[in-house]
Amino acid sequence: MRDRWGREITDLRLSVTDRCSCRCRYCMPAEGAPRTGELTAEAYLELAAAAVRCGIRKIRLTGGEPLVREDLPEICRGLRAIPGLEELCLTTNGLGLESLAPALRAAGVDRLNISLDTLRRERYAAMTRREPPGDLLAGIRAAEDAGFAGLKINMVLVGGFNEDEIGDFLELTRDHPWEVRFLELMPMGPCAAWPRSCFLPVSSVLERAPELEEVSGRGVARRFRLPGGAGTVGLIAPLSRAFCGGCSRIRVTADGHLKSCLHSREEIPLAGLRGEALEAAIRRGIREKPRTHHLTERSSDTPRSMNQIGG
Ligand code: SAM
Ligand code: SF4
Repeated sequence: MRDRWGREITDLRLSVTDRCSCRCRYCMPAEGAPRTGELTAEAYLELAAAAVRCGIRKIRLTGGEPLVREDLPEICRGLRAIPGLEELCLTTNGLGLESLAPALRAAGVDRLNISLDTLRRERYAAMTRREPPGDLLAGIRAAEDAGFAGLKINMVLVGGFNEDEIGDFLELTRDHPWEVRFLELMPMGPCAAWPRSCFLPVSSVLERAPELEEVSGRGVARRFRLPGGAGTVGLIAPLSRAFCGGCSRIRVTADGHLKSCLHSREEIPLAGLRGEALEAAIRRGIREKPRTHHLTERSSDTPRSMNQIGG
């Protein structure tokens, strides 16, 4: 289905919890994060099936941290059984993948994005406010061992924190068939008040690595490759090169609110709706999707932090 600006909406980001095993400084407060609540597995499946009837072809599960939900494999199996759903993906911080990756693969998850903002243990502890795992790449390796191909690693660039690791992250793509994606930090939640120097454009990756060669790609990332590299490099620039014109996404928060734009205040409550009423609410949300966000003028308009929406 198309929105009123003519964009075809095919992707749903479905958050299944606002809880998390980390407390990343840009995403959540250290403690006392207000809870939004979450729905049952059945409610998410009903909602997802209605979204697929409205034209959704791809679902990405997110959170909070989706792996903290014990019934995650059950949710994945249920989603996979929805006729018309072409792709099921998941974004995770990777903690717990060592035990869960095979179950997720068996449940029909097609692809994983794993978030990792630093390769240095002391920085990991400082950013996530938790003990680092023994091996920071353990989750990624476990996903690979479980048979997940085309792994993507999300690294949010934070000025003054990890820009000196751009080279180390690029090196990961030399021998591994992974896509390392550099993301611009978006001013929302705890980081909305951070100084401007924290918000780096992803062009700083190209400045540090002029040898990167652009390769063709689809989706929101510009894609590159180190000469002879086994993997690829993605640059995602919601601020410096907004991709709203080609946005094909809607989101549903863990507590069942439809957000047709990540940065808008507008939400449509879906919890409790069923059948045609549920479908009609989703269609209204798609139709009314805002044309663009306003991040170049001001912080995000949403009062929610990222863990409460689903990144
Ligand atoms: N917990 C999972 C994870 O970290 O991958 C899934 C949810 S998390 C909200 C999804 C992604 O959003 C992560 O890659 C995280 O780094 C990113 N993220 C969170 N807050 C952000 C912000 N203000 N700007 C840019 N990316 C952000
Ligand atoms: Fe948790 Fe992901 Fe937010 Fe970090 S970015 S606190 S891992 S939801």
